[in-house]
Amino acid sequence: MTSQPALTQKFLAQQLEKLDGRSYSAYKGLKGDYAFADFNFTLAHVQGDPFAAPSRVSIWVSHGQGQWPQDYWHSPTRCVVLADFLHRQIMQAIPQVEQNRGSGKSGRLIMAPTSQVVLARTAVQVTSEGIELRLGVGLPAFGRRIAGQAARHLLTEDLPQLVTSTLYYQPSWRSAVDQHMATVEDANALRAQLSEHNLVAFIANGSVLPRCSGVDPQPLPKAVPFKAPRALEVTLLTPHGGPITGLGIPTGVTLIVGGGYHGKSTVLKAIAHGAYNHIPGDGRERVVADGATVKIRAEDGRSVTGVDISPFIDRLPQGLSTRVFSTTNASGSTSQAANILEAIEAGAKVLLIDEDTAATNLMIRDRNMQTLIAKDKEPITPFIDKVRQLYSDHGISTVLVMGGSGDYFEVADHVIALDNYLAQDVTVQAKAIAAQHPSERQGEGGQHFGTITQRHLQLPQFDTGRKKSAKVKTQRLTTLTLGLEDIDLRGIEQLIEPNQARAIAHAILTWQQQKRPHLLQDLLDDIMTWVGRQDFDALTPYPMADLSEFRRHELAAIINRLRSLRVISEPSIDRPW
Ligand code: ADP
Ligand code: MG
Repeated sequence: MTSQPALTQKFLAQQLEKLDGRSYSAYKGLKGDYAFADFNFTLAHVQGDPFAAPSRVSIWVSHGQGQWPQDYWHSPTRCVVLADFLHRQIMQAIPQVEQNRGSGKSGRLIMAPTSQVVLARTAVQVTSEGIELRLGVGLPAFGRRIAGQAARHLLTEDLPQLVTSTLYYQPSWRSAVDQHMATVEDANALRAQLSEHNLVAFIANGSVLPRCSGVDPQPLPKAVPFKAPRALEVTLLTPHGGPITGLGIPTGVTLIVGGGYHGKSTVLKAIAHGAYNHIPGDGRERVVADGATVKIRAEDGRSVTGVDISPFIDRLPQGLSTRVFSTTNASGSTSQAANILEAIEAGAKVLLIDEDTAATNLMIRDRNMQTLIAKDKEPITPFIDKVRQLYSDHGISTVLVMGGSGDYFEVADHVIALDNYLAQDVTVQAKAIAAQHPSERQGEGGQHFGTITQRHLQLPQFDTGRKKSAKVKTQRLTTLTLGLEDIDLRGIEQLIEPNQARAIAHAILTWQQQKRPHLLQDLLDDIMTWVGRQDFDALTPYPMADLSEFRRHELAAIINRLRSLRVISEPSIDRPW
């Protein structure tokens, strides 16, 4: 949007005054682009009435107008960070401008929410040419009569004031923006060094991992800051913060042990979050994990379509095969097995498992149980017999929270204990105990991990009702509605913003129109290419203001949970198990 629109701010102001008292639909005639004094203004879509979803407005500030030094937008990363910074500035400033200007949503200014992480979002986008802001505006009315004066104030006075005070460079912001940039660039640098140090994750000393509460993602005040045990301490380099020392979690199998309530799950959750970059002040700015880290859990009740879960579950009663396993109602163990195999299919390199949310019978089978229930009567091969093969056959590491079973000492490369939130390396002690008291289990895992699913999938056709495209709606991070289907998001723990799910839904709708089967891996590659270019508008029927960047793993997770998904050219079993 670089050409200069013919209509002006003054013209819009006059038109709005003229519309005073007219029927609401007359607003529709104002759709279009306007050259305002300091930016371009677009009224892209007009709401049907003052109670409907607000009208869509976009604002374009060229770099010539906004005056942000080139240093802040010279790389794709910096563009995303600046956009994230500006998004938060606008959110803070909106209450100063927003007021009730009539009935219903008259006068409301709606921006997509942010979170503790820095993501590309459609609400504010920075390119090498300028800054685009998209927001919802409740066009003012009393009942169905246009409130022309109020609309003129809102669109041609207050909104411009909001834009110039938030989207234009101000030298006094410099240190805050610099810190936003440095935080993200340092996190990226830390993450980029993981593989050369054979690490899957890094937690800097001094990080604050616990959150205020399950619903408040702010750092817990007075938390015990993280401190790495000496033996696992590493120092990595960052461009802005210099050398940073902390815990390096090595590739292979790492066990996190410790008494209940000593902080195990908190560490694992922080690692899961480490796939993303956090904002300054979050406490987890220097906690990073391999981008292909996937949190795995049991998720009974989910649907599974055509997944080969035979590495973990085979020879079901009545000789049923689990090589193309489908169910509308998975059990704890089958859901967790499917979650693992689907994650690997989508390219996971690190699995995170917490005993709190795992199926015990998929995790362990001790000697006494092996003696009582013979192997040929137990379809499940426990994770303990597969975790090493995952690494040796496929290079996939596991970080496991396990306070309840010492059998894992035998298969772990490293054991980290948490004691009053302080991490200690207890590998030597754990190995000594395992040597002294061998579990005497029979290994049940066979020679190799087994087959990894590679499915050809047909995306469902979603019901569109009487509309052109299917309904997309998110309920926090709980449910995504796509057409008539409700997808339970609660098992997808690394979704951070509901607008990631929304973006994924639109991507699925776009690709579903091809009406052909896809090899899942190719489909993920295709969609992620667009996300990588941040070309979200290519994923949606019109430019949207409420989409956030997502990872391929959450994309795969949502596709895999579609109940109407079909796997092509293989028979499927439908059997709750
Ligand atoms: P576990 O998994 O070992 O049972 P959690 O990780 O669930 O323990 O932590 C138990 C409680 O302690 C949680 O309320 C959590 O917020 C809090 N907590 C975790 N880490 C810290 C810390 N470093 N400082 C203070 N409180 C913490
Ligand atoms: Mg726990």
